[in-house]
Amino acid sequence: MNKKNSRTILRGQTLSFSRSPFEGDAAGSIDHCEDGAVLIEDGRIIAVGTAAEILKQGKDASVVNHGDGLIMAGFVDPHIHYPQVEIIGSHSPGLVEWLNQHTFPCETKYDDADISRQAAEFFLDQCLANGVTSASVYCTVHPHSVTQFFEAASQRNLCMAAGKVCMDRNAPTELNDSAQSAYDDSKALIERWHGKGRNRYAITPRFALSSSPEQLEALGALWKEHPDVLMQTHLSETQDEIAQVLAAFPGHKSYYEIYESFGLSGPGAIFGHCIHLSDHERKAMSDSGGAIAHCPTSNAFIGSGHFDLAATRRAGPKTPIALASDIGAGTSFSPFATMRAAFEAARHHGNGLHPAEAFWMATCGGAKAMRLDDRIGNLTPGMDADLIVLDLKSTLLIARRVEQANDIHDVLFAQMIMGDERAVKATYVAGSRCRM
Ligand SMILES: [Zn+2]
Repeated sequence: MNKKNSRTILRGQTLSFSRSPFEGDAAGSIDHCEDGAVLIEDGRIIAVGTAAEILKQGKDASVVNHGDGLIMAGFVDPHIHYPQVEIIGSHSPGLVEWLNQHTFPCETKYDDADISRQAAEFFLDQCLANGVTSASVYCTVHPHSVTQFFEAASQRNLCMAAGKVCMDRNAPTELNDSAQSAYDDSKALIERWHGKGRNRYAITPRFALSSSPEQLEALGALWKEHPDVLMQTHLSETQDEIAQVLAAFPGHKSYYEIYESFGLSGPGAIFGHCIHLSDHERKAMSDSGGAIAHCPTSNAFIGSGHFDLAATRRAGPKTPIALASDIGAGTSFSPFATMRAAFEAARHHGNGLHPAEAFWMATCGGAKAMRLDDRIGNLTPGMDADLIVLDLKSTLLIARRVEQANDIHDVLFAQMIMGDERAVKATYVAGSRCRM
């Protein structure tokens, strides 16, 4: 490749994080430059600085001027179900009904590889249109649903994690695997896909109620054999679910402790929801590692409850907390909708949510949950150039509001409350602009 042509400068406003907003004053965690630039070479970020500095440093580079567009890291969505694109916005009275009336009939159709492939393509294009450049994705029980997904992700050169859903009980027979087949199929998929290109594997027991103790044990053993893959599951979403889980696993002290006892906790574990954890569970998770995917639009839609960010952080300060859509119970691909709902969930508990906290959880937090925070999630030299450019005046209403804004925090807050897909002007994957 001609070195000269592989260097690109993106010019515009730039936004990055110098540290987590939860460690000290939130506003001070943001680095914002009004006339900034990013130098990219061979898909990596080489330098970030003022436009004057970067133009000097990259004299031979081609320059793309995004004007007053805001260049930042692509969003990371660490809990999302790609097969559920067609059931988003389907009404159900609660979680169990959602699974039985919508999720399972939908996922049964993924027996057909063509349906998997088409859904994976559609799903990834939706992610990119919304500025989501990485995600940790639930496929279906069918191994080919993972293959179709990774093939589509590889074609787009995306950094994605995904896994075959494992469940051997409390689901229709055609969606049940077994302890042995879940182990064998997941292992074969790890060997085929994990670390191939930008793909990462996630061992995926759907949740404790849909996996027998034997299956959880087999998957715990598999994770021990492949400790560098991720493990994703659901935890403590609704009160009914918790009661049913504890009844199905007699002798266990708590829902979290069930996963822990089967070796399904620790660094690289991503637990979706975690709304009703006790302080004891929050502390145990914080001590052992693992991350929380906070899915506020899904929680509001299912009526599961409101995640208490402040209380979770108090009892478990070391646990990374990321924002996730949980499509299809979640109601939008847009991280703006997720940030807005996270603000509303915090409000429910009498708290606020600083835009630095929301944007951090939607980027760096997700990358941390996926153990990829040295590669993606921030605008930092050395990281992969998965970037987005936001139009901070994407609607007349937002433009009018932003004209009155006092500072960048005020501008970002307006985006998280009113923004949507229209704010995403451009998405770059490993330095290349996606056609959208
Ligand atoms: Zn989910």
